Amino acid sequence: MNIRKTTLAEIANTPLPSADRAEPGRFVEDYGIDVFGVKTMSEYLPKPVFKKLLGTINSGNAIDSSIADDVAHAMKSWAISRGATHYTHWFMPLTGASAEKHDSFIEPVGGGEVIARFSGKNLIMGEPDASSFPSGGLRSTAEARGYTAWDPTSPAFIKRENGVATLYIPTAFCSYTGEALDKKTPLLRSMQALCAQATRLMRCFGKPDAGRAVVTLGAEQEYFLIDKRLYVLRPDLMQTGRTLFGAPPQRHQQLEDHYFGAIKPRILTFMSELDRELWRLGIPAKTRHNEVAPAQFEIAPMFEELNLAVDHNMLIMDALKRIADKNGFACLLHDKPFNGVNGSGKHNNWSISVGDTNLLNPGDDPHQNAIFLTSLCAVIEAVDRHADLLRAAIAGAGNDHRLGANEAPPAIISMYLGEQLADIVEQIERGGATSSKHGKTIKIGADILPELPCDATDRNRTSPFAFTGNKFEFRAAGSSQTCASPNIVLNTAVAEAFDEIATYLESLPKSANFHAELQKLLASIIKKHKRIIFNGNNYSAEWKKEAAGRGLPNLRTTPEAVKPLAKKENIALFEKYGVFNAVELKSRSEVFLEEYERKIGIEAGLTLKLARTHIVPAGVAYLERLGAASATGLLKKKSALAGYAARVAERVDSLVAAADKLEAEISKGGSCPALIDAMGKVRAVADALEGEVDNDLWQLPKYCEMLFVY
Ligand code: ADP
Ligand code: MG
Repeated sequence: MNIRKTTLAEIANTPLPSADRAEPGRFVEDYGIDVFGVKTMSEYLPKPVFKKLLGTINSGNAIDSSIADDVAHAMKSWAISRGATHYTHWFMPLTGASAEKHDSFIEPVGGGEVIARFSGKNLIMGEPDASSFPSGGLRSTAEARGYTAWDPTSPAFIKRENGVATLYIPTAFCSYTGEALDKKTPLLRSMQALCAQATRLMRCFGKPDAGRAVVTLGAEQEYFLIDKRLYVLRPDLMQTGRTLFGAPPQRHQQLEDHYFGAIKPRILTFMSELDRELWRLGIPAKTRHNEVAPAQFEIAPMFEELNLAVDHNMLIMDALKRIADKNGFACLLHDKPFNGVNGSGKHNNWSISVGDTNLLNPGDDPHQNAIFLTSLCAVIEAVDRHADLLRAAIAGAGNDHRLGANEAPPAIISMYLGEQLADIVEQIERGGATSSKHGKTIKIGADILPELPCDATDRNRTSPFAFTGNKFEFRAAGSSQTCASPNIVLNTAVAEAFDEIATYLESLPKSANFHAELQKLLASIIKKHKRIIFNGNNYSAEWKKEAAGRGLPNLRTTPEAVKPLAKKENIALFEKYGVFNAVELKSRSEVFLEEYERKIGIEAGLTLKLARTHIVPAGVAYLERLGAASATGLLKKKSALAGYAARVAERVDSLVAAADKLEAEISKGGSCPALIDAMGKVRAVADALEGEVDNDLWQLPKYCEMLFVY
């Protein structure tokens, strides 16, 4: 029996799910219904407590302990009214996943009775046993204590799974000595650093009361969906998240007919259920569409404050997996699940606003333009100086397969500004040119500044870091990665650039001509950092050469990419802005490298096992059939079939030999590059065999089936 073929028949015979699960009409009313947000708080909290809490949320200061009990009580009453029996502190350890441990509200009061109780202390701080989370040596198991601390800037919410409702409280996770053990803590610190510098910069522009500074993020999430019944027949997908074997089918994405194509009914049912769940959680899911590869899709929410957007992206990834499962799919979030077809990315749309002013909005009044051009130059400076750190932030075993594979930006970080902005930047560099391509004057801050239309940029899909109208889009992150890491780097790097610019502007004597001085400063920044700007094709071989000539780093693999984290100047940068101390940074490099090595180790072991237990047996069985055909005596002496059989035999033999080599490499504890090389050799032969062995003997679902049967 061929399990693969019976499964395919079963899938083909399954009727579509009934379409009317959704209740149209209630989606607006139900938006955020499972969130303890500002509106719910105002209903459940006494007015003075509500006011104090709101102040805390807006200022980002620590919560006033005198109101903690009241807030906890209100949160509990609300959660119970929504069906919850348990609460959990929800945090993001360095594994990149989220973590939770549930506690019930139950408290015995004697006489066999209980009450529901949730104290301010329970809300503000938790003490999960932290010994089994990676800490990179920050915390020895003997002193395993880790603390979770409530982050009131990300509201509590109720997550529902199979009718079970649980109150989730977003928290930061740190050690007894206050070192960050998670991804949220440094993110919050980096936001604080950037917002402080942005506010300062606005003061330099004579806007001391511009309002609160806010970093914003809109994260586009790509993913694959495949039928769960095929997924469970692929141990590689289940264990590593990607296929370790499989030849690309004849037709995959060449015809470019999947991107933005009509959404199939089973997929649409899934997407609709996903959107509704996200809306109930107050996540502004906005767009859904087919992506480039077959069976690949994207969901994008509207942008939100960075910290919340990062939490929401974690929830989106979680919901994708759960709701896929309910709909008979497996959702693949791996950065590169299939060889030879596009991998999945996570476009990181980032900007910063102060009050009503988006600093990256070109706007149409001259004053705004000066702020915009200054911010633009600051980002150029930040990205050029810290391209290596941005690269480090998106390193990982999965993303290594994607970067530079002609579907995602290369590992070389560069920036795309678009023709008009590139032209303006050049003119600023030349020091006050007075006309632009559009015949307008561009002296900063003068009344004659041009209007810079929002859509002045074209699209360049190949750039890792593109200006897209009123925000920068960092496109190199992989779909499985948390948004926290790249934004920690981006915030810190831009905070430094803002800091330096503000320091210069503040030092100017009163008599100085502010705009002339600013013009000079920006010209010098551009002169120094323009090598990072590249508007051409990032996928081309010429760019690799040119980038090397410009001295831009090209760190292709994770071990190379994380090295800069240990550089003295990088430690100094993070320390200066209070984002990481040296110990925290070192622990992170260790955790990432260890994770990378473990992943490669698992892949190597599984490659060996699958080659021997699935692919060699299929090859041998096929050889037996070929042998039987020859044994009929019907063939002429030097028949083509005999030649073919010999070639297949040779292939099976070289597969066995390649597997033996891989085994030897594993046994001697070979390096990651050696293991990757040995795995690649096994795969190459196995994938070639897939195109030769009798379809009836092949048990692993093939690419064309996983990517097209749903
Ligand atoms: P595309 O990348 O296809 O052009 P959009 O322009 O719709 O898509 O935006 C992509 C993402 O960028 C969305 O999540 C959107 O909300 C977000 N975005 C828009 N403006 C900002 C901003 N000022 N800051 C951060 N993200 C933004
Ligand atoms: Mg985009």
